[in-house]
Amino acid sequence: MTLATTPRVDDLLAGIDATAPPAGILDEGAKREIRRAALTAVCVPGYQVPFGSREMPVARGWGSGGLQVTLGVIGAGDTVKVIDQGDDAGVNATNLRRLIAGSTGCTESADSREATVIQTRHRVPEQPLTDQHVLVLQVPVPEPLRGVQRSVAECARMHAEADYSTMWVSLYEDLVRNGVITKSTGYPVLVGGRYVMATTPIPRWDVPRLHQAPHLSLFGAGREKQIYAVPPHTDVEPLTFDDVPFEVEGADGVCVRCGSDDTFLVESGRGRFACSDTEWCARVQDADADRARHREMAPLHLLPGAARRPGALQQGHLHATSLQQSHLAATARPEWALLVEGVGKVHGPGGASAVPAPGPITGPPSARPPARSSPPGTSGSTSPRARPSA
Ligand SMILES: [Zn+2]
Repeated sequence: MTLATTPRVDDLLAGIDATAPPAGILDEGAKREIRRAALTAVCVPGYQVPFGSREMPVARGWGSGGLQVTLGVIGAGDTVKVIDQGDDAGVNATNLRRLIAGSTGCTESADSREATVIQTRHRVPEQPLTDQHVLVLQVPVPEPLRGVQRSVAECARMHAEADYSTMWVSLYEDLVRNGVITKSTGYPVLVGGRYVMATTPIPRWDVPRLHQAPHLSLFGAGREKQIYAVPPHTDVEPLTFDDVPFEVEGADGVCVRCGSDDTFLVESGRGRFACSDTEWCARVQDADADRARHREMAPLHLLPGAARRPGALQQGHLHATSLQQSHLAATARPEWALLVEGVGKVHGPGGASAVPAPGPITGPPSARPPARSSPPGTSGSTSPRARPSA
């Protein structure tokens, strides 16, 4: 009888095949489940599909949901790009990109045109995407009704019955308190005319890019264990009212680096702004970007504008809408400052107080314009509907 000998390191190293594909993070069963959930999500656009979220090498809240979706759909022949706040070089983005490439054997790139899978937090790339792309978004709070309903079971019932009245009331209250809808990131949208969906922490600026987009968008929430999707060529309509136009963030400014005025800008200190999307900014400086095509797709027509709002007067100021005026009359408090002035915070992702600028102002009651004439039966009412974004 011979005793088992302790294996030698040389023997172990000799057994490693350097050409073998790298060991993955997810086992095949986990990938299969994520793919099944993603397929269900594609079949029912905007519907949140539960899945068994795994422990990942990143903490919950650092993109574990997006990472699982990416690992579920990516293959060795893909090219991955990861951005965080529009930046390819952020610590989180860099580490996630290395992790994905290292564990799947796929190629990594910072160029959206080369990438096939783009994992992102907070932004949709400025580069217009095509049907070659799968956009994976990291989602912190997948439930759009969470702000108006704490019960998970009740949220499920409301989705099932398409009962979004509480959401409409919430938007209405926001409007009469602040004069504008102050919801900034994660703006609620109606997907495919059926489900209300949270748009992750992407700014309003990027919401129109999901409407009838040629690419597939997959949303992964690791902590909340949900996956949902917007398939290509699907209607994504921001929730707003008939007489309240959807607006994106806006400011008078140009990028201090590339001079673009049709990109999503962030503050870069000393009152200056820079493109949030560093890849696009660098390519514009290198004259390697299709700026005309980009400008076509930029939501410039949705910038805050007094002229677009109902009841607009001269001097670029506007007054209460018919809805707000009727509310004012009902409350009989003429001194009540219904609308806010100068509340516009130049867009920066994540700012809870960020609202479109400039905010409308109110004049004295005598200077207010008469209520807009409405067809019989609709006077003084604001009927909820989703407004097409493009
Ligand atoms: Zn720039």
